[in-house]
Amino acid sequence: MSKPLNILFVSSEVDPFAKTGGLADVCSALPKAIKNLGHEVRIMMPRYKFISEWKFKLHDIIRLKDIPIQVGDSTEVGNVKSSFITNQKDKIQVYFLDNEKYFGRDGLYQSPNAKSDFKDNDERFVFFARGVLETLKRLGWQPDILHCNDWQTGLIPSYLKTIYADDPFFKPVKTIFTIHNMAYQGTFPPESFAKSGLPQEVYRAEGVEAYGQFNFLKTGLFYADIITTVSKKYADEICNSDNLGAGLNGLLAHRRKDLYGIPNGIDDELWNPATDNYVFRKYDQKSIEAKVENKKALLERFKLPFDPVVPVLGSISRLVEQKGFDLLEEILDELMKEDVVFILLGSGDKKTEKLYENYRKKYPKKIGLFFGFDVELAHMVEAGSDMFLMPSRYEPCGLNQMYSMRYGTIPIVRATGGLDDTVEDYAGGGKGTGFKFEAYDSKEFLKAILRAVKLFQQPDEWKKIMRNGMDRDFSWGHSAKEYISLYRELLKR
Ligand code: ADP
Repeated sequence: MSKPLNILFVSSEVDPFAKTGGLADVCSALPKAIKNLGHEVRIMMPRYKFISEWKFKLHDIIRLKDIPIQVGDSTEVGNVKSSFITNQKDKIQVYFLDNEKYFGRDGLYQSPNAKSDFKDNDERFVFFARGVLETLKRLGWQPDILHCNDWQTGLIPSYLKTIYADDPFFKPVKTIFTIHNMAYQGTFPPESFAKSGLPQEVYRAEGVEAYGQFNFLKTGLFYADIITTVSKKYADEICNSDNLGAGLNGLLAHRRKDLYGIPNGIDDELWNPATDNYVFRKYDQKSIEAKVENKKALLERFKLPFDPVVPVLGSISRLVEQKGFDLLEEILDELMKEDVVFILLGSGDKKTEKLYENYRKKYPKKIGLFFGFDVELAHMVEAGSDMFLMPSRYEPCGLNQMYSMRYGTIPIVRATGGLDDTVEDYAGGGKGTGFKFEAYDSKEFLKAILRAVKLFQQPDEWKKIMRNGMDRDFSWGHSAKEYISLYRELLKR
C-alpha cells in the first residue's frame, strides 16, 4: 500500500457553507470521495459573514488567531475558524479564514442585487491566498498537494514559486489548479498588482499579466504544477477555441501536456431520489412510477394544472449568457403551442427575469417561475420534471444534467463540454440517456425538444431512457481515483 496523501483543497465556495454554482458542489463532494479512499484531506475557504456560526458550530482555533497577512503596504489580520463536513464515515475539517473588512459583508463576490463585483475583490483574494499559506505554516500541517480551484485561488501557486520559494516548509508542496470555468478570470487593473506583493518582474506576459491586466486565473494556469479541468471535451475546447479559451487558449495549448480533463461526479448522498428528504415521494429504478407524485407536488407548488400525460420541462440555472436562455427565449412562443409545462428556477440577471416574467403572464397555465437561490426547490424540480433543459453556449462539465439522469429526468442539452461527454443521444431502440443538439441555434434546440416530447408519448420507450440514465454511475469514485493518480504522478516529478 502506498502511503496516504495529505491534501488541502482551497476554494471560495464549498457546499453547504457558500454556493453560487457547481464549484461549491465539487469542492465538497470531491474531498469526501478522496477521504473515502483513505487520504487526509482538509478544506480552506473564506469565512463569509452569512456562514452561520451557530448552524455550523464554527469555533475559533486559538493558535491560529491574529495571523498577520500582508496586502500591499498594510498588514491585515486573519483569524481561522473551523467546522467540518461529513461523508458516511468520516469528518473532513474545513478551515475558514476570517477578516471583518474583507468577508464581513453579504454576498460572495458582489452585494446581492448589485450589478457589478465588489471593488476590492483583488485585495480580498490576495488576502485569502496569502492567508492560506500563512495558516498552513502556523498550523504546522504540511500538505503534499495544494489543490486550488478557480481564479479566487490563482495567486497561491505563484506565491509558492516566488515569495515562498525558499521556505523549507513549502519546498515539497506541489500545486494543482482546477479550472471550473474559463470565463471567470479575476482580472484587475495593473495598479492592483502592487497589492499582491509579488516581485515586479512577474508582471509580464510570461507571468501574471494578460491583455494589460493583472489576471488571477492566468496566474494560476501559469504557475501551477498541474492544471485540470472538469471534462475531457472542455479540456480540448479551451485549448483549441479562442472563444472558449477566453484569450488564454495560447497558454493552455502551451501547457497541454500538463492539462488533464477529469469529469466531475455527483454526490450520491445529496442527489439520490431514493433517499432525498427534499422530495415529496422517494423513488428509484424499481419504483419509477412514483416519480409522477413529485410532478404533481411540483405543479401544485407553482399553482399549475397537473396532467400526467403533459410533460414538464424543468430548468435550474444561473441566469447568465453561458446558459443559453436566449435560445430558449427565441423558441418559447413556438414551444408553448405544444402541450407542455415549463418551470424555471433561476437566479441572476434581472433583465432575463423580467423577460420570462412577461412570458409567464402570457402563458399563466403553462409557465412556472421562481427567481432566487433555493436548494430545496432545486431538488423538487429535478424530481418533478420529465425533461431538463440545458442549451448552454458552453459547459465545462455541468452537474444538473447528471442530477437529472439520476432522477429519471431526461436532459435535453447542447453537445458542448461535459454535456456532450455525459449525455448519450437517444437513437431509437431504447438506447441513450437524453437528447442532444450540436449547433448553437434555437431551431436545433426546438427540434431536440420536439423529439423528446414525441417520445414522451411512448411511455415504455420513455421509461427505458429514464432507466438508462438512472443506471449510469456518475458517482465520484472513479474521478477521485484519477485525481489521486495525478497527485502521485506529480509528487514523483
Ligand atoms: P454552474 O456551476 O455553471 O452554475 P453546474 O450545472 O455545474 O453549473 O452547477 C450548478 C449548481 O448550482 C447545481 O447544484 C444547481 O442545482 C445549483 N443551482 C443553480 N441555480 C440554482 C438556483 N437558482 N437555486 C438552487 N440551486 C441552483
